Amino acid sequence: MSTTLISALPETDTDQRTSLIGLTRKGLAKRLAEDLGLTDKEARMRSRQIWGWVYNFGVTEFSAMTNIAKGMRQKLDDWYRIPRAEIVERQVSRDGTRKYLLRFAPGIEAEAVFIPGVGRAGSLCVSSQVGCTLNCTFCHTGTQALVRNLTAEEIILQVLACKDDIEEWPSGKDDRQLTNIVFMGMGEPLYNLDGVDTAINVISDGEGISISRRRITVSTSGIVNQMHDLGERTEAMLAISLHATNDELRDVLVPINKKWNIEALLEACRNYPGTSNARRITFEYVMLKGVNDSDAEARELVRLLKGIPAKINLIPFNPWPNSQYECSDWDRIEAFAEIVNRAGYASPIRTPRGRDVGAACGQLKTDSLKKRASEVRAEALT
Ligand code: SAH
Ligand code: SF4
Repeated sequence: MSTTLISALPETDTDQRTSLIGLTRKGLAKRLAEDLGLTDKEARMRSRQIWGWVYNFGVTEFSAMTNIAKGMRQKLDDWYRIPRAEIVERQVSRDGTRKYLLRFAPGIEAEAVFIPGVGRAGSLCVSSQVGCTLNCTFCHTGTQALVRNLTAEEIILQVLACKDDIEEWPSGKDDRQLTNIVFMGMGEPLYNLDGVDTAINVISDGEGISISRRRITVSTSGIVNQMHDLGERTEAMLAISLHATNDELRDVLVPINKKWNIEALLEACRNYPGTSNARRITFEYVMLKGVNDSDAEARELVRLLKGIPAKINLIPFNPWPNSQYECSDWDRIEAFAEIVNRAGYASPIRTPRGRDVGAACGQLKTDSLKKRASEVRAEALT
């Protein structure tokens, strides 16, 4: 494992210019029209050029936008900025997993994890909130109180930080390493649907980062009343943190189950827009020793999912300091997987990646504490 501590970027909090990151393409054109007095046609043309520079080529300076006249470049620079998140820490695991601790504002920190693929595909796991309001008992993030939702800009900045680091510019090149985005970092994405929706809009745009919606997966603990909207608005793939096959146990492991139980959750899955055998829902199941890992539970899992186009992901539990669970023994996981396999679900065990840098599922937690707004403002002024 190697760790690089990177000192603060000179980015100043006094910069009053509007950030372009986080605007949709339409939103960008609208800003240009309003701020610079461009006609709709001009604004559309300029926004297209800028979009390509920012999201296809990864430039952060208007001066690099060589197909835009100098005077206009200067004007753009007067009004706007193309920021990057401050990388507080970057760790590279023995297995190639890269964990980034990013700071967006004083006291607002979140982690993103890049998991390179064995073949071509690599995934970036992004956070949607700082902390989480839910308290799943096996999850480290769940021990951190919610500080706030991340904005669309802050979600996109996670992707840009990774693309800068692995030098994945232009976005449209052939041998891409970053092909998938998973919302499986810190927080519950369905409590931040607006931010997630806008971020997906930007990330999936074909003239920019160009990661298709079919390669973007949103994982939820089961916020049933937002699931349909998620599908309609984002067309993203859905992953469900199931983890138990009966309500009594799921009430403990994933307490939101007391509000929406397994039956309600599976009903919402059956109604998830766009689901088919080619677009299956992923069910995540963390393997907890002596808690949820019996043969009977494996059979029950298969029974519950009957009729839903599903993939099953068995996740070996990743321990964290003072966690009350242990990971199931390997032969137990294999026996469980065997039952699931025989029911027609292929190779479902997810090998833990980046454990040595605390980057594996459920290990993410930052030191951001909930602060009073006045404290945050005071820090911003120092
Ligand atoms: N809040 C969302 C997304 C973030 S959690 C959700 O709960 O789905 C991403 C995945 O990691 C979830 O399936 C979660 O249940 C799982 N996870 C959490 N803690 C874990 C741990 N310690 N070991 C293994 N997986 C864990
Ligand atoms: Fe929050 Fe997901 Fe962790 Fe549960 S598993 S506490 S919903 S981040």
